[in-house]
Amino acid sequence: MFEKQIEIPSSEEIIAEQPVSREIAAIKRERDKLAIDVITGRSDKFLVIVGPCSAHEPAPVLEYVSRLGKLNEKVKEKLVLIPRIYTAKPRTKGVGYKGMFSQPDPEHKENTLKGIRTIRNLLLSAIEESGLSAADEMLYPENYAYVEDLISYVAIGARSSENQMHRLVASGVELPVGIKNPMSGSIPVLINSIYAAQSPQVFKYHNWQVGTTGNPYAHAVLRGRVDNYGNDIPNYHYETVMQVLESYAETEGGLKNPAIIIDANHSNSGKRHRQQIRIVEEVLQNRLYDRDFKQIVKGFMIESFLVEGCQEHDVVFGQSITDPCLGWEDTERLIFDIAEKV
Ligand code: PEP
Ligand code: MN
Repeated sequence: MFEKQIEIPSSEEIIAEQPVSREIAAIKRERDKLAIDVITGRSDKFLVIVGPCSAHEPAPVLEYVSRLGKLNEKVKEKLVLIPRIYTAKPRTKGVGYKGMFSQPDPEHKENTLKGIRTIRNLLLSAIEESGLSAADEMLYPENYAYVEDLISYVAIGARSSENQMHRLVASGVELPVGIKNPMSGSIPVLINSIYAAQSPQVFKYHNWQVGTTGNPYAHAVLRGRVDNYGNDIPNYHYETVMQVLESYAETEGGLKNPAIIIDANHSNSGKRHRQQIRIVEEVLQNRLYDRDFKQIVKGFMIESFLVEGCQEHDVVFGQSITDPCLGWEDTERLIFDIAEKV
């Protein structure tokens, strides 16, 4: 049984309610290009996708991105900073808080229509506040249409990377799409996902049969894996990165723009958030050791918020209610360090 609860207007209607100004559209275009140029290798800057695991409340996220915008000014010759504003959260057991998209107030019931308006406001205010357009996870592929004029980086999560609809929609996105390795850690599944996203596709999207040209900026994100006993096993090490590099090279028909982003949290850190600092340092060290490694590893994904760690309920302003994050001071130090070493 499906009980109809709230009728949701189309993305065209929602965007018409709240269109972006020419200035905001220009900032987004410029930020898109900076990120795309890193993936294609036209730029040798390094991508850092950084921010909370989930954006559960606008105020602390805006405070965070405002700090990030100022930091970006200091490191922009070396780094392209993209704030994580993740508004839809996959849950391991399928229950619990599913993000601002469904639950604009984590302490109240789902209201997707309010959620859509809240996240559009937040993504827009974040650009106004910081000059930076965000990354979001495309957990529900059809919802991409509600935010496509506001974000500069799209993530496909570990629980979605094998899903056909995610791959098909990614093929039409004109932005870098970072596809995570699946929870099992399978590199062939990851490479097949990138292949599908880079290929032209025809499918039903909203009320249309659409055709895409393929997304040459789809690339790999290594997030660690979970073994059959539930243990986190990291995959940011030299050996795995070089295996992914070989898999890219061996793909029949070829893949464009081989690129890997290292997700320093999740199963790489075992969600011990402070380990992110060590992981980043190790990866930077490996970049010095090997030119091929240096060329293919084009960035980090780091979970960070105003206050370190995480909390079960939204009591502490600026602390994650999902995965534990680095706090602001550690993040700032780490970003300066990355800028110095890349
Ligand atoms: C995340 O980036 O917060 C996330 C949910 O990642 P993953 O899909 O790797 O678990
Ligand atoms: Mn997370």
